[in-house]
Amino acid sequence: MLLASEVKRIALEAGADLVGIASAESMNNVPGYSATELLPGAKSYIVMAKRALNGFVMSGKGRNLTWGMTYLNYKMNEICYEVTKYIEDRGSVALPSFFVYQTFVGPNSEHFNAILDTKWFSYIIAGAQAGVGEVGMNGLLLTPEYGPKVRLTAVITDAVLEPDAKTKGDLCPGVSCNLCAEACPVGAISESGTDKPKCHGYNDAHQEVLGYSYCGMCIRACPAGKR
Ligand code: SF4
Ligand code: SF4
Repeated sequence: MLLASEVKRIALEAGADLVGIASAESMNNVPGYSATELLPGAKSYIVMAKRALNGFVMSGKGRNLTWGMTYLNYKMNEICYEVTKYIEDRGSVALPSFFVYQTFVGPNSEHFNAILDTKWFSYIIAGAQAGVGEVGMNGLLLTPEYGPKVRLTAVITDAVLEPDAKTKGDLCPGVSCNLCAEACPVGAISESGTDKPKCHGYNDAHQEVLGYSYCGMCIRACPAGKR
C-alpha cells in the first residue's frame, strides 16, 4: 500500500516546497473539473507548491516576474511528472495535472485565451482542500509559509492516500487589509472576488505591446506568509 508520507517525500525530493493531500471527492461540486472527471476511479490527489523567488516578485510587474513564473511552470511540470511516475511504478494509476499556460500553450498562440477560459482542475481550490493554504481575497492560494508567492500543481491518483487537515483559515482578513485590491491597476479585486476578464484584459494588453504579461501586483502587495 502506498503511504502518503512516501509520496510527500518524493514530491519534496523532486523540488516541491509544500505538499498536501485530499480525497478525490473533495473536488466534487466545485468550479472546474472534478478529480474523477479527469481520472475515472480517482481516490486522492496531491497538491504541490514551489515558492517563487522573492527577487522576481518584489521587482514588480514585468519581465523578471514573467520569466520567473514561466520557469516555475516548467519546474512544476517536472515535479508533477516525477510524483506521477513514482505512484505508477508502485502499481496505481496517476494523472499529472500539468501547468499548461505558457508551457504547452504559448501566450501568443491563437488557443491561449480559449484555454484560459476553459474549465480546468483548480489548483487553488484543490490546494485549499489539501491543506496547503487558503483562498485569499485576491483569489489566490495563500500559504502559511510563503503567502501567495507560490506556483501550484497537482497529481490525481486512484491510490487511497491519507488526507491532510485544512489550514486554520486566518491568513486573509479581507477588506480590513485590502492591500491587493488597492494594488490592482485595473480594480479587478473586491470583496466579491476577482474579475478575471478584467485581469486577463490588462495582462493581454501588456503581452501584445511588450511580449510579456505577468502583472502580479496582487501577489507583491499581500502580507500573508512568513517570507
Ligand atoms: S494580476 Fe494584476 S491585474 Fe490581475 S488581479 Fe492581480 S493586480 Fe489585478
Ligand atoms: S493582500 Fe490582504 S486582503 Fe488581499 S489576499 Fe492578501 S491578506 Fe487578503
